[in-house]
Amino acid sequence: MATTQKSSGKTNRRIQTVAIANRGEVAVRVIHACRELGIRTVLLHSEADIGTRAYRMADTRVCIGPAPTAESYLHIERNIKGALAAGADAIHPGFGFLSENADFAKAVIDAGMIFVGPKPESILAVGDKIAAKKTVSAARAPSVPGYMGEDQRIETLVEEAARIGFPVIVKAAAGGGGRGMKVIRSRSEAPELIASAQREGLAAFGSAVVFLEKYLDRAKHIEFQIFGDSFGEVSYLFERECSVQRRHQKIIEEALSPSLTPELRRAMGETAVRLAQSANYEGAGTVEFLLQDGEFYFLEMNTRLQVEHPVTEMVLGVDLVKAQILNAAREFQVWPQESLKAHGHSIECRVYAENPYAGGIPSTGKLLGMEWPEGPGRRFETGFEAGDEITPFYDPMIAKVIVWDETRLRAIKKMKQTLRDSLVLGVHTNIPFVISMLSHPEFVDGSMTTQFVGRHYTQENGIGLEARERTDLELAFEKAAGKVSLTGGVAAAGSTLGSAHTTPLQIVNSPWLGERWRNV
Ligand code: ADP
Repeated sequence: MATTQKSSGKTNRRIQTVAIANRGEVAVRVIHACRELGIRTVLLHSEADIGTRAYRMADTRVCIGPAPTAESYLHIERNIKGALAAGADAIHPGFGFLSENADFAKAVIDAGMIFVGPKPESILAVGDKIAAKKTVSAARAPSVPGYMGEDQRIETLVEEAARIGFPVIVKAAAGGGGRGMKVIRSRSEAPELIASAQREGLAAFGSAVVFLEKYLDRAKHIEFQIFGDSFGEVSYLFERECSVQRRHQKIIEEALSPSLTPELRRAMGETAVRLAQSANYEGAGTVEFLLQDGEFYFLEMNTRLQVEHPVTEMVLGVDLVKAQILNAAREFQVWPQESLKAHGHSIECRVYAENPYAGGIPSTGKLLGMEWPEGPGRRFETGFEAGDEITPFYDPMIAKVIVWDETRLRAIKKMKQTLRDSLVLGVHTNIPFVISMLSHPEFVDGSMTTQFVGRHYTQENGIGLEARERTDLELAFEKAAGKVSLTGGVAAAGSTLGSAHTTPLQIVNSPWLGERWRNV
């Protein structure tokens, strides 16, 4: 990591205690980084997250409210008060929740603390989907043709959609995480779909403002990691491909993309840097593009750490979270562009608590056991341990499995083996679905687009998964645990292993399972 040698004219700001306004695996990720930097941590958590992994790991914990996010993780004042009460001098917002909220960043600064992220003005300039489009045209970046006008009457929006030409996608301006978006394929369905995007935007994000874009129906999702330091330097840390998505939500991400030529990579990277520079951007950020027929189009900029940041870390040998914190303390100089060289290939799979044999419906309950098989080039990020509860209140992601190997094909094989050897007891997981996708010829040859999941895995055919044999590890668990009901990632369709977490589980006389299982 580059150390600070030149002077930015700004003095270093000592950070001794970081409050984490988040939960789950990203809270754990930030705690690891802080510990390595000798910084104390304060977890600002909801009542529902008492007794999660981050809760146990943090040096101090402050309960900021009940489970509903509006009363805890999305409540600006409660987060600020909690951080101040615990003596924090900085707040790391993680991703999701308040991480891209300029008012929150400002409130942190106004309260005399450091916001680990960009300046509020930068968030406003590039983080807001509509404002970003304007910054983008100033930064000479191509974006998808569309309508971003203030006239939000349904008739106007329908006319504009027809002018753009169907298919069109309508998006909630304040939306995120794939929510508040609808694809409109014809004029007749436009009024209802637009109205429903407006309703969803209002309910989920507090704003009914929508905009329209031409829908690119054979595009790849390619995003560039950028990082800006307090000296005004910005570098791009190459790209991630995240085309494997369900309902516009990413499931498998990789670095680098199998689809870019060096020339295209450089053109997209330099565009991302220009955009960041035009907003005086500091810290970690991601510029998302769609790539279709060799042309790239700006989609949005995320002004925060990204869920899939580990694949970039693996191929570049960097630590983005430590860099964020050091940069916030003004003790960091960004890696010079010419020093950045990607090595090997990295893939991340998001493991969700959901039932892949029932259209991916969420699966909640107590995590009765988890095993993540360590090995060379394998990395696991999770906010849970055996005994923790998967509640219905938050995102159902329970872990991220990340692998690195020398080539893409080896990384795919390693990921499949790693997932086969992973074990989650107590809830269903999407692991069988992910393994199936990793084996699909279109994924293996790298030609997949954002239509990949929709085209090959339909809800009607139970996403096309078939029952499979249990692995040796699963059988060993069963044997050791007596009458275990295995579910989730290891359960097969129509399996006799028990249908769900609702089956009470008794683990008896299993000496080799040891102390870790005491909560079961
Ligand atoms: P969010 O902020 O909810 O993640 P994005 O604007 O980043 O929303 O889009 C998420 C995904 O939705 C993209 O990766 C892509 O698959 C799809 N998408 C968004 N806009 C378009 C478009 N204009 N054409 C085709 N697909 C799109």
